[in-house]
Amino acid sequence: MNALRPMLTLDEALARLVAGSTPHAITQTESVSTFEALGRVLAADVLSKLFVPPADNTSMDGYALRAADAPVAGTELVVTQRIPAGHVGRALAPGTAARIFTGGQVPDGADAVVMQEQCEALPGSAGEDEGEGEGGLGRVRVNVVPVVGQWIRRRGEDVQQGAPVLRRGTRLTPQALGLAASVGAAQLMVLRRPRLALFSTGDELQMPGEVLRPGAIYNSNRYTLRALAQVAGCEVIDLGIVPDTLEATRAALREAAAQADVIVTSGGVSVGEEDHLKPAARAEGELDDWQIAMKPGKPLAFGRIRRADGGAALLVGLPGNPVSSFVTYLLAVSSVLRAIQGMNSALPLALPMRADFDWPHPDKRREFLRVRLNESGGLELFANQSSGVLTSAVWADGLIDNPGGKAIARGDAVRFLPLAALVSR
Ligand code: AMP
Ligand code: MG
Repeated sequence: MNALRPMLTLDEALARLVAGSTPHAITQTESVSTFEALGRVLAADVLSKLFVPPADNTSMDGYALRAADAPVAGTELVVTQRIPAGHVGRALAPGTAARIFTGGQVPDGADAVVMQEQCEALPGSAGEDEGEGEGGLGRVRVNVVPVVGQWIRRRGEDVQQGAPVLRRGTRLTPQALGLAASVGAAQLMVLRRPRLALFSTGDELQMPGEVLRPGAIYNSNRYTLRALAQVAGCEVIDLGIVPDTLEATRAALREAAAQADVIVTSGGVSVGEEDHLKPAARAEGELDDWQIAMKPGKPLAFGRIRRADGGAALLVGLPGNPVSSFVTYLLAVSSVLRAIQGMNSALPLALPMRADFDWPHPDKRREFLRVRLNESGGLELFANQSSGVLTSAVWADGLIDNPGGKAIARGDAVRFLPLAALVSR
């Protein structure tokens, strides 16, 4: 049996997943308010119609002047205007200074700003507390010789007019929304959300809130996988628990395919006689039945489930062990979701880190070990790496991506994948 099932490297499996998913790319788009666009994926580049900032402005409270007018420390200049943020001054007359506040537009003619801490407002001048008296804005003593350009934020130093500030295929993070807003985008063109149908297989599963029968366990994968899909911006179609029979599994696949772009299941992908997912998928579509040289998460099913309209939904069948389904979702399902949204589906960058533990008996397969950062810049290992121990995934800050067969000794450099980067992929 096993001889018929190809053993793939994870990279091969991911490449096949992505290649198989790309033809199912989502093409429908919608315009949403930038307020409502968090986590959505851009369907078009966002181009800036303006320069940001739109004009030279100051990054300090102080005095705008011509640097050449204050060639020595202690130069005194007449203060001829006052420019708060949001106001535009007049051209600066030679030999004078403008009182200016952070964000205020630097007047024509000025080429430097001296921070107020390096100036002295002379009596009768526009000091912070005195306000502007009848006698005008007074004078300022400049105690430090200014350098041309200092404390001036140049027009367009953040964004040039016409420049793409955000690319299609970008997931909209809080800072991306801020950048879109900074160029005036009130609406954004995004892809429709991926529709992800989810079900758990297993006659041993019960829902929290129920009293456990003998032999039963609570269905944790339903919560983990549903939340992962929600974090990824999916519309989740949650079909609950499906009994361990071929007919029920086929019916669930049909129902899921009718509604979803991607079907994610947990459990039932091994070769035991209680494992119905693969026969059900073959009956309802096509299946690639893979063994992946990775731990956790060796068995993985990838296929297409036919729809009545002639199309097909993608299927990713994850193993049932809670850590296995969590890790394989992060690596495989995320890649599929990214591929159908035209996003880069490469895994996040692994960081070189120091192992502060020994791992003398590695598996032959590529391992993803649950580890945590310590204060000295190293990684600690969770003691129990069993694929059933979900505690490890909550304790961990990330996974070490360890090549098959590689023992780790204290002090070795290892490749660290932060969970935060994987979960928000
Ligand atoms: P399976 O992949 O169906 O052979 O399941 C492997 C192991 O994972 C078994 O110990 C199952 O009881 C457990 N398991 C399967 N599905 C879930 C689930 N939804 N929540 C928690 N544990 C599960
Ligand atoms: Mg099972």
